[in-house]
Amino acid sequence: MSKFIQERVTYIHHWNDTLFSFRTSRQQSLRFENGHFIMVGLEVDGKPLMRAYSLASPNYLSELEFFSIKVQDGPLTSRLQKIKVGDLIIMSTKPTGTLITGNLLPGKNMYLLGTGTGLAPFLSIIRDPDVYEKFEKVILVHGVREISELAYQDMIENELPNDEYLSELIREKLVYYPSVTREPFRNNGRVTDLLISGKLFRDIGLPKPNTEDDRFMLCGSPSMLKDTCQILDNWGFRESRHGRQADYVIERAFVEQ
Ligand SMILES: Cc1cc2nc3c(=O)[nH]c(=O)nc-3n(C[C@H](O)[C@H](O)[C@H](O)COP(=O)(O)OP(=O)(O)OC[C@H]3O[C@@H](n4cnc5c(N)ncnc54)[C@H](O)[C@@H]3O)c2cc1C
Repeated sequence: MSKFIQERVTYIHHWNDTLFSFRTSRQQSLRFENGHFIMVGLEVDGKPLMRAYSLASPNYLSELEFFSIKVQDGPLTSRLQKIKVGDLIIMSTKPTGTLITGNLLPGKNMYLLGTGTGLAPFLSIIRDPDVYEKFEKVILVHGVREISELAYQDMIENELPNDEYLSELIREKLVYYPSVTREPFRNNGRVTDLLISGKLFRDIGLPKPNTEDDRFMLCGSPSMLKDTCQILDNWGFRESRHGRQADYVIERAFVEQ
């Protein structure tokens, strides 16, 4: 267990039957970039049971936050969903990942396209002042099936625009576009359809993306990533690989078993 550290759970919020968030203490020595993920888990029968988790809290806060699925028979989340404040969880000490602005070429508009828990890395990125230094607009698209899955909606729409430090940047630059596929909502449709039809761009008042001005970060299911990469590739965008700066970056929100 020596390569893992223990942190104590300080807060838990259940959004619905399938999603919850939790916060933990943070050792000061843990350093990460907004958009990174880390291995998080529980000790089960004396052994670490670990899974990748995006850091949903920005790197300047004293606690860590995670946004989690509840897979009913999932080895980790069937247990993790029952944690209580004060419990210990374990995590690795080496955050990593591709969803960092340093992997993108300079641009005007940054599109953050997340489905389901793929929102998680973007929750740290939209609270990163440096991102607003680099981009004129930051467009967060969160695609879900049902309205109850629109976690963090209140924080994004009501808390951040009044945040002590970020309010001006958020009001001027952050565009939040939640979209629901299986229930009537103000925005309906899959992220891929919103891109292809151009509805997203019409709704937010921006032109169809071009490789000069626009950059993308994608986080979703394997099929969402495949389909969205196809669209971006067809539009002439190039994926950043091996840390080389390009037009878009991707991270899997989970692995299909
Ligand atoms: C880079 C990376 C970052 C990740 N970040 C997060 C995160 O921030 N939050 C999070 O909840 N999960 C995240 N995951 C998924 C996470 O690692 C686990 O798969 C998840 O916690 C479930 O663990 P489990 O042991 O209960 O089930 P597993 O055995 O890991 O998964 C069982 C099945 O459940 C489904 N599943 C797993 N995770 C998800 C999910 N997030 N959304 C929808 N279906 C899923 C898949 O079909 C999978 O095959 C990430 C995965 C990767 C690769």
